[in-house]
Amino acid sequence: MLTNNILPDGFTLPSIIKGCSRLHAKSEGKQVHGLVFKIGFGFDRFVQSSLVNLYAKFGDMGLARLVFDKMGDKDLVVWNCLVDGYVRNGEVKFALKVFDEMPKRDKFTWTCLVDGLCKCGKVEVAREIFDRMDDSDKSLVTWNVMIHGYMKSGKIEVAGELFERMPGRSLISWNSMIDGYQRNGCFYEAMKLFEALLNEGFVSSNATLSSALSAVSGLAVLGNGRWIHSFMVKNGFEVGGVLGTLLIEMYSKCGSIESALAVFKGIAKKKLAHWTAIIVGLGMHGLADQALKLFTEMRRIGMKPHAITFIGVLNACSHAGLVDEGNRIFQMMINEYKIEPTVEHYGCLVDILCRAGHLEQAKEIIESMPVTVKPNKVIWMILLGGARNHGNLEIGEYAAHNLIEEDLDAHTGCYTVLSNMYAAAGKWDKVSHVREMMKNRGVVKDAGCSTIEYKGQLHRFIVGDKSHPQTQDIYAKLREIREKLKLEGHVPDTSQVLLNIDGEKEKESELENHSERLAISFGLINMERRTPIRIIKNLRVCNDCHVVTKLLSAIYDREIIVRDNSRFHHFKNGSCSCNDFW
Ligand code: ZN
Ligand code: ZN
Repeated sequence: MLTNNILPDGFTLPSIIKGCSRLHAKSEGKQVHGLVFKIGFGFDRFVQSSLVNLYAKFGDMGLARLVFDKMGDKDLVVWNCLVDGYVRNGEVKFALKVFDEMPKRDKFTWTCLVDGLCKCGKVEVAREIFDRMDDSDKSLVTWNVMIHGYMKSGKIEVAGELFERMPGRSLISWNSMIDGYQRNGCFYEAMKLFEALLNEGFVSSNATLSSALSAVSGLAVLGNGRWIHSFMVKNGFEVGGVLGTLLIEMYSKCGSIESALAVFKGIAKKKLAHWTAIIVGLGMHGLADQALKLFTEMRRIGMKPHAITFIGVLNACSHAGLVDEGNRIFQMMINEYKIEPTVEHYGCLVDILCRAGHLEQAKEIIESMPVTVKPNKVIWMILLGGARNHGNLEIGEYAAHNLIEEDLDAHTGCYTVLSNMYAAAGKWDKVSHVREMMKNRGVVKDAGCSTIEYKGQLHRFIVGDKSHPQTQDIYAKLREIREKLKLEGHVPDTSQVLLNIDGEKEKESELENHSERLAISFGLINMERRTPIRIIKNLRVCNDCHVVTKLLSAIYDREIIVRDNSRFHHFKNGSCSCNDFW
C-alpha cells in the first residue's frame, strides 16, 4: 500500500496494529505508531484503542497509559484493555485503581481482573473482587479461575468449598480440582473426585486421566491404576504420548514392573520420555541388567538420552552395586552427551560408591564438585547412610556435621543414624550428646507409617498402631510370627532402634511393632495366598524388618513388595531384590 502511495485510513491502521500485536512485532508496531502521527490519525478513537492494546500486550504499560490518557472518548473496550494489561504485568495496584475509576464494568472486566490476580498469585485480592461481583456476573470461567488460583496457592479447602458452591461445573472445573489435589499431595481426594466425575457422567479428557494416574502413582494403589488403564483402552484413549509415560511411571511406582514393561513394549512410537520412564522404573526396582540393556538399545537406535535418563541408569547401577559401569556412564554423560552433571547425578555417583563401600572415594567426589553444584541434604544423607552400613564412624561424623550445618531445622534421620552409629561403637557419652542436641533443637522423630491396599481401600498403620478394626487378629498374627521366627533361629537386630529406648526386651517389642510388620500381618490375614502383599512405607526399612520380611516371604511362601522412601524391595523365597543394598 505504502509503496503504491496509498495512505492507510482509520480502518487499515487498527488492523495492522492488531497484526503487530498478534505477531509480537514490537518495533514494527512502534513504526506504525509513528506513521499514525505523521498522517494525522493520532486522535482517532479506534486507532488509539488498538495502540493501547498493542502496548499492553507488550507489557509496556507506560506507553499504553500515555496513549490512553490522551484519548477523549473512552469506551469500555479500552478501559478493559488497560485493566487487563496492568494485571497481566503484575501491576496489581494500578489495575485496581483503574478498575475503581471505571465508569462502567462488564463481565469481561470482572473476569479478567479476577483471572489476572489469580495468575500473579494474589488469590486473596482476587477473592475480594470475586465476592463483590453480582452472582449473575460470575461466569463459569471466574469460578474456575478462583478454584485454580486457590489450588495453586495450596488452599485446598477453600477451593473445595467453591467447587461445592458453584452453580454449574464444566470439565475444566473438575480437572482443576483433581489436578489441584494431586499437586498438593492429596492423592486420595484426587482419586475420590475422579470417581465422582465418572459417576456424574462426564467424559474424561487426557488432562483428567493424567491427573488421575499421577494420584494413583502417589498412593501406589495398583488396583485403581489397572482400572484406569483398562478404562483408557475401553474408551479409545491412545496409550502413547504423555499418558503412556504416566502409565509406565504408575505401574513402576505401584510395584508392578512387569506391567510397566508391557505398556512400554506396546507403545508403537516410543519417545524419549517413554524410554526414560521405563529405565527409571527398572532402576527403582533394582533390575539393572534390563535397565542397561534398554539404555544400550535406545542409544543404538539413535535416541539421545537426556539428564533424567542418566539418573535412571545411574540409579540402576547403584542398586545393583555396579561401580565400574556407573563410573563409565557418568563419564559418558559428560564427554559424549555434553550433559553437565547436576546435584542429582552426583548423588547417584556418591550412592554407587557408598553402597560398594568406597567411602573415601565418595567423599572425594563430594569435595571435588564444582562450586556451581553445591552438595545438598540428600548427598550428605547418602554419605551418612554409607558410613552407617560400612561402620565408618569418622566419615559418618563428617557427613552428619555437614548435614546439620546445611539444615538447622534438621533432619531427624540424620540424628537417629548418627546416634545409632555411636551406640554401635559403644560411645555412650556421644549418644547422649546427640540426644541433647535433638532436644535443644526440638527435633521430633518422623513416625513410621505403612499403607496397604485391600479391596480398593487403603489401610494405614503407624508404629504400634492399635486403631485398626482388626487389631486383635493382627497382634495375634504378630505373636504367631514371633514364634515362627524363633523356630528359624532369628535373633532380632536391635542396633537400629531409636536411642531413647532402654532394655533389650523393649527394643525387641519396638521392632515387632514397626508399621510394615502390622501391614504385613494384615496382608497375611486378609489377602489371598497368590496375591503379592504390596506395602508402601514412608521411611527406610530397618535392618531387622528387612531380615524378617525375607524370612516371612519363605515361611509363608508369599511375595512381599515394599516401597520404602528410596526404592522397591521384592521379597520372595527368602531373599530380596535389593541384594541387601539399600
Ligand atoms: Zn523395622
Ligand atoms: Zn531389600
